[in-house]
Amino acid sequence: MQDELSYVKDETAIPSLLKKAKDDKIETVWDRALAMQPQCGFGEMGVCCTNCSMGPCRIVKISPDGPKKGICGATEDTIASRNFARSVAAGSAAHSDHGRDIAEALHYAAEQKRPIKDEKKLRALAEEWGIQTEGRSVEDLASKVAEKALNEFGKPFGHLQFVERAPQKRKEIWESMDVTPRAIDRDIVEVLHSTHMGCDADYRNIITAAVRAALSDGWGGSMIGTELSDILFGTPVPHEVEANLGVLKKDCVNIVVHGHEPTLSEALVLAVNDPDLIEAAKQEGAQGINLVGMCCTGNEVAMRHGIPMAGNFFQQELAVVTGVVEAMVVDVQCIMPSLPQVAKCYHTKLITTSRKAKIPGAVHMEFDEKNSVECARKIVLEAVMNFKNRTDNVLVPEEKVTGRIGYSVESIIRALDGITNTFAHQSGTVKPLVDAVKSGVLRGVAAIVGCNNHRVPADQSHVLLAKELIKNDVLVVTTGCGAHACIKAGLMSEDAVKLCGKGLATCCELLKVPPVLHMGSCVDISRILQLLAIISKYMNVDIKDLPVAAAAPEWMSEKALSIGTYAVASGIYVVLGVTPQITGSENLTKYLTSDMENIYGGRFEIESDPIKAAHKILDHIEVKRKQLDI
Ligand code: SF4
Ligand code: SF4
Repeated sequence: MQDELSYVKDETAIPSLLKKAKDDKIETVWDRALAMQPQCGFGEMGVCCTNCSMGPCRIVKISPDGPKKGICGATEDTIASRNFARSVAAGSAAHSDHGRDIAEALHYAAEQKRPIKDEKKLRALAEEWGIQTEGRSVEDLASKVAEKALNEFGKPFGHLQFVERAPQKRKEIWESMDVTPRAIDRDIVEVLHSTHMGCDADYRNIITAAVRAALSDGWGGSMIGTELSDILFGTPVPHEVEANLGVLKKDCVNIVVHGHEPTLSEALVLAVNDPDLIEAAKQEGAQGINLVGMCCTGNEVAMRHGIPMAGNFFQQELAVVTGVVEAMVVDVQCIMPSLPQVAKCYHTKLITTSRKAKIPGAVHMEFDEKNSVECARKIVLEAVMNFKNRTDNVLVPEEKVTGRIGYSVESIIRALDGITNTFAHQSGTVKPLVDAVKSGVLRGVAAIVGCNNHRVPADQSHVLLAKELIKNDVLVVTTGCGAHACIKAGLMSEDAVKLCGKGLATCCELLKVPPVLHMGSCVDISRILQLLAIISKYMNVDIKDLPVAAAAPEWMSEKALSIGTYAVASGIYVVLGVTPQITGSENLTKYLTSDMENIYGGRFEIESDPIKAAHKILDHIEVKRKQLDI
């Protein structure tokens, strides 16, 4: 646990607001983390079980006399692996339910003949899924694609359609381990079933079920979420965006949209541009309406519309502490239940919108996808009418930076086309990137993803890790709260090229891209899988053979565990900066951090020091380069 004075410098905009929070007697995440010390050792090691009412049981490792089995006879291996698997299932469920909502949104959009932004992508996906496209209207196609996507959650036979995107060798590994994801809900349910009391007691088999559920997320729920969001709301293209809490405006009605699903935020984007609502804001004495985004919803609207990125997970309470937020509008996931208490001390309205996520003390205005624009208008009006209640107790931090974002797979390939010699080579391929890696100008690619966690100074590990990697000619791709951390630290600006090794700097200048590419929200990690699959197929190797790695230096959520697990099972070396709750089982720890490599070609590594983590990634990349003989 870090005390609150050890934040990474001022670029986070945290210290000034934390001081204000203290003055205003607001309790924040760091206060609660401090009050929680020392945290329970049994929980930290993953050897506490509450799966039945004979428990709770715990395995006592430190004293020879303590219980070594649960009352049912479950060992530390069984208990720790069941806990881990249930977390993975919960993470997969969160992403996948998000994907399902987007599929439903596409269905309603088709039904109501609402605009479908990326028809080209819709047609391409329909063809990929074997849907007849010729002579079909956009609405008809969207409806068919939505139906097929919704089927992925509970189809009785076969496997997920996006599995076909994986390279052949990867599919064979999954087949041999019987982890090929079948139907998303089924794979998640199976983990919950097999980890019930008196069911699966074999830690390896439990992790195998967790792997299947995680693959159902990465190559299923998340990929559906990303692809269908692009179809519905547009595939991101590169553009500039402002970031950090300095994007809040003193003279405007500020609305922070926070959570995950782009359906709500997209409707808000439309509503804040409604001339009647802008006029209403002016009538209330404001200059206009300022919509900004937080966490993954922030990433979604920044990627597609250039809506400013207000901040990441640990800035949500502090955004309210500024005193200038008229409404924080939330949907699902990563929304601190403390927010209504913080909001109560100011004039801010915390507005919940999903029936899946109500918070006592919040105003609930249910968002109905069938009636999205009207719902969004009502929410915006609520914020506008709240402007007059603002007090003088305000502090808008000065911290604000500009970065270039919008790197979908399509944008990356388009950027690569910019340096393709079309007389000699085909455009629309990853050849220039592969050539740069083969020549050694670029050593490899690393993904930095995940959250904030009180065990790490906010954003510090994301930033130090990214800087060390780009200094050593490794291109970084990022999503989620890691992306927020990187843009705030200036790593998506033109100047960031100065921090790169010579090889990466040259590539960035040629391609006109920053060395840290923002690829979107947490579900958009499926874009990274897609890119790796394309590169693998182009090089005729498996994903595990590529000089790539991933890191979640400040992870905290179950979704991050699902992401880590599907990445490992996809053949990727994944460095975790925060130790998962597994260490009470030596067998499980060894399985996840070593044995899995022999099976899947990927494994977890636990390393809390970001510089050491960077060097472990660099070493891994060099090993892969050697094996590829490049
Ligand atoms: S499932 Fe077994 S270990 Fe878990 S609480 Fe019940 S008796 Fe205890
Ligand atoms: S990166 Fe983590 S904290 Fe941030 S939105 Fe995603 S899951 Fe939540």
